Amino acid sequence: MTTSTARATSESGRVEVDYDVIGVGAGFAGMYLVQSMRENGFSVHVFEALDEVGGTWYANRYPGCRCDVQSMEYSYSFDDELQQDWRWTEKFAPAGEILEYAKHVADRYDLKRDITFDTRVVAAVYDEAGNYWTVTTDKGHQFTSRFVVMTVGSLSEALLPQFPGIEKFSGQLIHTGAWPQGGVDLEGKRVAVIGTGSSGVQLIPEVAERAGHLTVLQRTPAYVLPARNVELSDEFVTDFRSRYGELRDKARNSRAGTLKFPSDDLGADVPEHERQRRMEEAWAIGGTELMQTFKDIGVNQETNDIVADFVKSKIRAAVSDRATADLLTSMTYPIGAKRIILGTDYYETYNRDNVELVDVSADPITAFTETGIETRNAHHEFDVVIFATGFDAVTGPISKIDVRGVGGAALVDEWAGGPRVYLGLGSHGFPNLFFSTGPGSPGVLANMVVAIEQHIDWITRTLTDMRERNQTRIEASETAQDEWIQQVADIANQTLAIKADSWYLGANVPGKPRVFMFYMGGFSTYRATCEKIRENGYEGFVIR
Ligand code: FAD
Ligand code: NAP
Repeated sequence: MTTSTARATSESGRVEVDYDVIGVGAGFAGMYLVQSMRENGFSVHVFEALDEVGGTWYANRYPGCRCDVQSMEYSYSFDDELQQDWRWTEKFAPAGEILEYAKHVADRYDLKRDITFDTRVVAAVYDEAGNYWTVTTDKGHQFTSRFVVMTVGSLSEALLPQFPGIEKFSGQLIHTGAWPQGGVDLEGKRVAVIGTGSSGVQLIPEVAERAGHLTVLQRTPAYVLPARNVELSDEFVTDFRSRYGELRDKARNSRAGTLKFPSDDLGADVPEHERQRRMEEAWAIGGTELMQTFKDIGVNQETNDIVADFVKSKIRAAVSDRATADLLTSMTYPIGAKRIILGTDYYETYNRDNVELVDVSADPITAFTETGIETRNAHHEFDVVIFATGFDAVTGPISKIDVRGVGGAALVDEWAGGPRVYLGLGSHGFPNLFFSTGPGSPGVLANMVVAIEQHIDWITRTLTDMRERNQTRIEASETAQDEWIQQVADIANQTLAIKADSWYLGANVPGKPRVFMFYMGGFSTYRATCEKIRENGYEGFVIR
């Protein structure tokens, strides 16, 4: 690969660029970007900060990490031969298997030829006169393209709270989202896990098996539903494969891009004994089944309370120590307002002699010392501290890049009050820049592979349409963007999701503006909206 800067103006008056499209990040989105652009005759190149494809599934190597969407659904649908060939082994695939799948896809379609690894994009600057982007890498190289697609991921920027004295700690500090290659020796050690979100909940039972003593530092308890993961039988796989086309269509036309469909009944319309029966049945099935039992769990506090109380009763039944059960059931936010968590033996883990739960909401962490962690009332000694503290989600990885649009405007300044994106796809003032699963789209509220394919397909079709019409510049209009942002906020405000301090709102990052970052109107509605906008001549975009 050559290093270049924008080359001289060609005879046609257009600046020649290195690539039609540059992508930033080679997770599922960046990989599919390469495949889709190539298939449609665009030159494309992706830069990836890590040394492998797979993104999330390469970085999150912690024990217990696995998918919470069924494997047969959490996979690409763009090639039937691929989905017929690949054999998923478990209902919820472990991270290692998903990574193998990503590597298989990269090899199968020879994607790595158009990906540069170990290379972080640090800046992307738009040249208005020439209508092209210059992308700068951390190696100091520059490349030009007509379009840039941010395939940086929603959960790729690990959040490591800066506790005072953290640099003094002489033991090992690890973040779940940057788990060391080759693993971590936890055998017999005194281990702390900070955080009880999805990552912490998957990790904690695994650490408990290995560590001499495990201390879980919980600030907010989570609602954890039993995953009830199983190995996939040949019969199941064969049947699923035989109906893949139909099932993919169903998922694309569903609320969350999955084959889960909520009941048509409101909680209040179902008699008490029937409610109980339904919840017990869903609990026994496992996964997110419980969240489908009533239509209005996400919008009606009374219905939500019924389901939340049911989960709390299950936690109490599982945990033998009364004080520990009290801490694990002290949630004051609606169930589902934060991402619902699937676990395996999570609550049962607290019955082990080597596991202790510390409430750091009542007794907050004040500092790290050379030998451990100080809370207001105690000092805990550790060999290893694991941060399961989450991510600076969605905007985090984008704002790490110095993105400059029309007139040199900095994206971080334009987004200082919260992300400003039309359809989650394009931002006013930043022509020819697209986001994959960007803010204002369903993003992580949907099966992400389905959401990624929808976005990359939409972007590819847009570029194809523009090529056919000899158009080279597309930009979201400010009015359409304002209206979309308002619509996203209005929908979120009708739900219970805004009642929790979650990363959906940026509440986990000190100083981050509190804006609900996802479209909650449902994936199928969102997809139909994107299609309609395209059919209506890209309403809300200015193209020339
Ligand atoms: P990523 O996989 O995050 O890839 C983005 C890539 O961009 C990364 O490799 C990163 O290194 C790279 N990058 C970022 N910035 C730069 C830069 N400046 N320069 C160069 N490279 C850069 N979703 C689901 O739907 N179901 C699940 O069960 C599920 N489980 C998850 C479990 C975990 C532990 C996590 C963290 C997320 C999970 N998600 C899940 C969300 C998951 O992130 C998506 O499903 C999907 O993998 C995202 O793919 P992506 O390509 O958009 O982003
Ligand atoms: P998370 O949901 O943001 O959870 C972070 C945890 O760390 C929370 O319990 C949080 O407490 C705690 N925390 C953060 N800062 C803290 C501090 N300073 N002191 C004490 N506690 C602190 O992050 P995550 O668990 O990594 O999950 C992020 C997302 O990734 C998930 O929502 C999901 O979308 C995805 N994911 C999915 C899976 C899966 O099952 N497939 C697995 C892992 C991740 P508070 O709640 O009080 O802030």
